[in-house]
Amino acid sequence: MAFEGLTERLQNAIGKLRRKGKVSESDVKEVMREIRLALLESDVNFKVVKDFVKTVRTRAVGAEVLESLTPAQQIVKIVNEELVKVMGEEATPLNKSPKIPTVIMMVGLQGAGKTTTAGKLAKRLKDEQNARPLMIAADVYRPAAVDQLKTIGRELDVPVFEMGTDVDPVQIVKQGMELAKEKKNDYVIIDTAGRLQIDERLMDELVNIKELAQPNEILLTVDAMTGQNAVEVAQGFNDQLDVTGVVLTKLDGDTRGGAALSIRAVTGKPIKFIGQGEKMTALDVFYPDRMASRILG
Ligand code: GDP
Repeated sequence: MAFEGLTERLQNAIGKLRRKGKVSESDVKEVMREIRLALLESDVNFKVVKDFVKTVRTRAVGAEVLESLTPAQQIVKIVNEELVKVMGEEATPLNKSPKIPTVIMMVGLQGAGKTTTAGKLAKRLKDEQNARPLMIAADVYRPAAVDQLKTIGRELDVPVFEMGTDVDPVQIVKQGMELAKEKKNDYVIIDTAGRLQIDERLMDELVNIKELAQPNEILLTVDAMTGQNAVEVAQGFNDQLDVTGVVLTKLDGDTRGGAALSIRAVTGKPIKFIGQGEKMTALDVFYPDRMASRILG
């Protein structure tokens, strides 16, 4: 289960204080050392850990904890509050265009879950807002990506615009956007190509699609299972495309969870949704406070 190791280690570290009536500054330092190790071993970005530990330590050696009769609870409270801060405080809603269509461009590495998430989003918009999304199949490199999107479209009863795999993706997006305008779709979700790693050609193509489609939302899909790498990938895409939000997928898996804690702090961009399964319903709004509670167990 996600975060299992982290939760257990945080609980153990803080638990040691529970046996003490009052704690000293050196007790707090010892706990902070363990929290630091727990975070690092859960793949939280080094700099994020450093800043986090510093903030919590400063607060924890203050009167709030040292003079408290329940120091362990106080530390839990501080850690919880700071976790929420690191993850961005509040849930961040999807951007919406003042005039239709709102354009959402999905980007990310191959296998991160872009195509699946495009479908999940379309379903969410349909169910919640009675929206009429159009999905555009612009991933022409991964064999089967177009078919995969078409299958998802059929399952959800959402139209998919495609031109096979031999046409320039920028052209596909152009024609897809024209169709959406003609049919008055209120959302357009563009599924773009990924690669196994970031390369220049991919980025050029994505920049061209961005210029053409002027998306209201560029959602970067990253796989939580890839740990530190997820954060590097997020930084790479953000540098080139200035993404507007992140979808962290596969949080149902056995991830150590570092990406959830690092992405916001490293990129400055909010995690908007989390993927927690392969089914079309398995997409949830990301709430920093709920995630903090889940991490603390
Ligand atoms: P793409 O190459 O980025 O378009 O990736 P896909 O959408 O094809 O997803 C790759 C694999 O990850 C597929 O088998 C998906 O079913 C799976 N997947 C996507 N999101 C999630 C998730 O949140 N949880 C789990 N367990 N699997 C996911």
